[in-house]
Amino acid sequence: RCGYVAIVGRPNVGKSTLLNHILGQKLAITSRKPQTTRHNMLGIKTESAIQAVYVDTPGLHKNGETALNRYMNRTASSALKDVDVVIFVVDRTRWTDEDQLVLERVQYVQGPVILAVNKTDRVEDKGELMPHLEWLAQQLPNAEIVPISAQHGHNLDTLERLVAERL
Ligand code: GDP
Ligand code: MG
Repeated sequence: RCGYVAIVGRPNVGKSTLLNHILGQKLAITSRKPQTTRHNMLGIKTESAIQAVYVDTPGLHKNGETALNRYMNRTASSALKDVDVVIFVVDRTRWTDEDQLVLERVQYVQGPVILAVNKTDRVEDKGELMPHLEWLAQQLPNAEIVPISAQHGHNLDTLERLVAERL
């Protein structure tokens, strides 16, 4: 099996870190600064009979005041077309207007969506995974939810298995 997997989410949620960890190499540029990934980046992972082409996107920015923001929004949106699986990455510690923007696009996606709740390693608010999670799950009733830590590699095996099942 083989297919395209788009990794979407607002800037700084950990999309590029996730792709790097899945691939086991530094391909996508990661940074504390938003806008580090300006183009869609492809990473191909082949394992036995499964080949997944991951597309790391620049992240959607709040409606483009600048030409660069508009360019990045178009680039990220184009990745949502003609993909087999979408990984929607959110940061468990924070929900913003930009997450909302991404959510509204992801709700239009026809195919399977996996909601990856990232940065579960962050120690603050250990009790709660994410304040909005229950609400968010209702917004995406067909999405599979996986808590992950892209940085530490926690639960990425589960994430990759869910992707493979949907290719
Ligand atoms: P992107 O803009 O969505 O591609 O985000 P990046 O992958 O560039 O990551 C943004 C910041 O979040 C970087 O400083 C990463 O080191 C950090 N980050 C990413 N994943 C995790 C995680 O699982 N845990 C923690 N604590 N930080 C993370
Ligand atoms: Mg990035």
